[in-house]
Amino acid sequence: MRLQIYRNPFRIEDWRNREAVLVSRIAGRREPGSAGKVSRRIGEAMGTDRRDFLRKISRASALAAAASVLERNRCVALSQSSHSIGMPTTPALEYLRAQFPVLGERVNDHPLVYLDSAATTQRPRAVIDALANFYLHDNANPGKSLHTLARRSSALYEKARGTVARFLNARGPEEVVWTRGTTEALNLVASSWGGANLHAGDEIVLTVSEHYSALVPWQIAARRANARVRILDVEDDGRLRLDQLDTLLSERTKLVAFPHVSNVLGLINPVKEICDRAHRAGALVVVDGAQSIPHFSVDVQQLGCDFFAFSAHKMLGPMGTGVLWARREILEGMPPYQAGSNMAHDVDLESKSTHFAEGAWKFEAGTPNVPGPVGLAAAIEFLESLGRKDLWNREQELTRHALSAFREVKGLRILGPTEPDNRISVFSFVLEKSDALDLVKALDAMGFALRGGDLASHPLLKRMGLTEAVRASCYAYTTAEEVDLLVAALQRERRGHS
Ligand code: PMP
Repeated sequence: MRLQIYRNPFRIEDWRNREAVLVSRIAGRREPGSAGKVSRRIGEAMGTDRRDFLRKISRASALAAAASVLERNRCVALSQSSHSIGMPTTPALEYLRAQFPVLGERVNDHPLVYLDSAATTQRPRAVIDALANFYLHDNANPGKSLHTLARRSSALYEKARGTVARFLNARGPEEVVWTRGTTEALNLVASSWGGANLHAGDEIVLTVSEHYSALVPWQIAARRANARVRILDVEDDGRLRLDQLDTLLSERTKLVAFPHVSNVLGLINPVKEICDRAHRAGALVVVDGAQSIPHFSVDVQQLGCDFFAFSAHKMLGPMGTGVLWARREILEGMPPYQAGSNMAHDVDLESKSTHFAEGAWKFEAGTPNVPGPVGLAAAIEFLESLGRKDLWNREQELTRHALSAFREVKGLRILGPTEPDNRISVFSFVLEKSDALDLVKALDAMGFALRGGDLASHPLLKRMGLTEAVRASCYAYTTAEEVDLLVAALQRERRGHS
């Protein structure tokens, strides 16, 4: 089915039927007659402009999903008291899930239960279509004053930057640097800003709960500059020891970096408070937003940080695409990270007349990854069409449900606080007498996708007395039934080992 659609996207009947169903759902009209009329109109539209038609399809999917949220809200309200035995999967959630083709896969002869969204989310059709449309219709190396396709590609690329700037409430698109992901965004800061601003004797404050991508670049930058990395500890339950912050901060502190949300514990850290305290000490703040922005709205001006990094693939967008947001005056003072075409102009052999692009563009050398940002913009529109507040409310409900369900598994230790406040629906755990990787394998045989190992966070696991853990991570499409299935599987595993 998947191959049929994408190998031959212009099978008119497939698309007509799909669009007709989507449009009639949006309109709340399910009778075949009205769908038929829409279908005819779509058929006519298709005859004239296939690309436009495909774009409408993507938009229709998003709108349909948005309409479904209204329906879902009603159903969720009805189901609010059912939380200990599982919230029912509403028709609206079923419909949202239908936007994600891969969720229909069977794995090892079982329906897929995808609980690895903190590693990467699945993609809705709207995003897959945006990527396919780019390659089907707009692909060219961007150029603002060249041929039509080059101009189109350029316009799409910059439009996506504008979408991200709005999404983050940045002051403008010049503050949005495209990267390959959070990892590259953080490496860019460590290499460019760190290279220019860190000197012998300077200090950087990081936390025990850092992901490797946020820890190792700073270790390298500090070593290069002969600067010192100081570490903020966590409580036994993983909460940052903010009581230590003022002791660690001094006039030597140049930078404070921490995750907005821990990738292991799902805990949300208080960005504003840390920024205020770091700024009072004269340090800049880098926030690793890889696990936060996929789950709730982020306003970089309100947070008050200086850098914010995230990855498209953790919020329904494509892999290989990420964002570094930075305040424009800081970007202006930073040297290029990489050099090459597009960011360098009037280049001569003596580099006398060579000058660099300004703002975000200074950091983007070579042929850009145009479909990446285009896909991310489609993902943002899709998330917004679902209603970010609605998604967050539902996620909190799922978190409450999951935490109470996990309590029923004997010998299961959830890492971090087990209260539902201030956390996202990401749950790391160990099961007594079970090795983490063996458990992941056993669950995989039953169709579950979970992550296990050091979770690129060995220092935090070590602080909790562990070397490995298993992580179940949910997203907008995860159902309470899936969580219940996992709980039942863990109970079976536990019985098997006792
Ligand atoms: N930071 C955190 C908190 C993460 O969870 C991840 C991804 N697991 C990263 C950084 C790195 O992101 P990416 O691999 O997309 O660059």
